[in-house]
Amino acid sequence: MNNHESNIEEENKILHIGFDDTDSTNGRCTTHLAYLLTNTLVKKFKVNFIDFPLLIRLNPNIPLKTRGNGAVCLRIKGKRYDEIKEEAKYFIENYSDIGNGANPGLAFYEENSIANDIISLSNNAMDTVLSKQLAEKTAKKNSIQYHLFGKGHGLVGALAAIGCCLDVDHTYETIAYRKKENIGAIRKIDKSKVKKISDESFPNTFNNFDYRKKRVLIAPHGPDPVFCGIRGEDPLITTKFMENLQIDEDLDGYMAFRSNQGTNLHLTKERRLSRILPFTSGHINCQLITKPNVINGGHVIFYVKDNFNDILPVAVYEPTRLTKIAASLEIDDKIEIGYGAHIKSNKRTLNLEYLIIKELKEITYFKNPICEKCNKNMKSEGRNKGFQCPICKTKKNNEPKTVIKKDRGLICGGLYIPDPIAHRHLTKPYFRYNKEKKYDRKQILYLLNNTQWTSKK
Ligand SMILES: [Zn+2]
Repeated sequence: MNNHESNIEEENKILHIGFDDTDSTNGRCTTHLAYLLTNTLVKKFKVNFIDFPLLIRLNPNIPLKTRGNGAVCLRIKGKRYDEIKEEAKYFIENYSDIGNGANPGLAFYEENSIANDIISLSNNAMDTVLSKQLAEKTAKKNSIQYHLFGKGHGLVGALAAIGCCLDVDHTYETIAYRKKENIGAIRKIDKSKVKKISDESFPNTFNNFDYRKKRVLIAPHGPDPVFCGIRGEDPLITTKFMENLQIDEDLDGYMAFRSNQGTNLHLTKERRLSRILPFTSGHINCQLITKPNVINGGHVIFYVKDNFNDILPVAVYEPTRLTKIAASLEIDDKIEIGYGAHIKSNKRTLNLEYLIIKELKEITYFKNPICEKCNKNMKSEGRNKGFQCPICKTKKNNEPKTVIKKDRGLICGGLYIPDPIAHRHLTKPYFRYNKEKKYDRKQILYLLNNTQWTSKK
């Protein structure tokens, strides 16, 4: 640490600014607000960012949430914190959809290291449902200043973002924003460029192009200030991707976020079936106890038990394109599944988010002997009456049936995840498995100081 930095440290601790639930179903605006505020903090207040702006996706299986359920944390060092807080409040008040479905929470935490109960709240916000009351209690205990707008549900996400150190696997997303006058206009994006740059940057970018459906995945639809977002492993690469798209529209600017997107962070915990609460997320090792049942709409339902012999149904929905795989499972197959727990007809049901085959039950069947002359299956003449070739009528009396192992068409150890179109923000794509990033603070600081991670004209 140089002298300059240590001087600042004496003056001020790190200021963590967390906020969430600023958007309604009208658009994904929490990141836009973060982008506007960040540029003000950099230009007007000359603050130093000690991390990339964090885009933290929380438990996607909560029923009352906006589309992405993403919260943001900005970690800065600088001066004039009182003015900065006023500025942040101003942005929330003026750029969120309060009264229209948004219930923002805004939190300020001044501390150089993050208290354990904030970290643990954040950890639980990834896969469970937390109350505003718990968030308020945690805030008060840690001298976190907070502001609630509307119903203030966003305080949970605001604290969860502050408590998410993301010192585990993580990804980046560079998001480009539109000028106000262009919001609502059709986004002109060159599909062939998206595909080409996706090809070239593989595997360092992900879920930007759907190769099966030949669809562009980078742009939202509707009246959203986001023009597009490029997901990947490195902010240099995602930002370069954006630039190489040579977007025609005169954009407002862009910002790179560090994120838990594409990491399955919501599925890390394993709980026994009897303790899985509705609207939580996680994974479980279990065994099929019923044959999969294909229901209306092509969805598949089967029942599983865990090591404690507790039982729950698992639902595999058609858009995941995993229904064929699911339907070929058999009783006694051992599997691991990622799930979101929901309530259907008053029953807890696990919606499948990924499937790993752990052990395939060997299925055998008997086959009649073959006629050596005609190479045809012989026909049974009836119980204990032997076999006859349907062509040359040769008979065999004491020939045993052959035992055939059924080809299950599934790979033991195989991993099956939904189609990109059915991915949630947190879904880990195939090729990210076993390539999870290690947290490297030095590398992140290097990137932070050597990339133009935000641009606003
Ligand atoms: Zn024959």
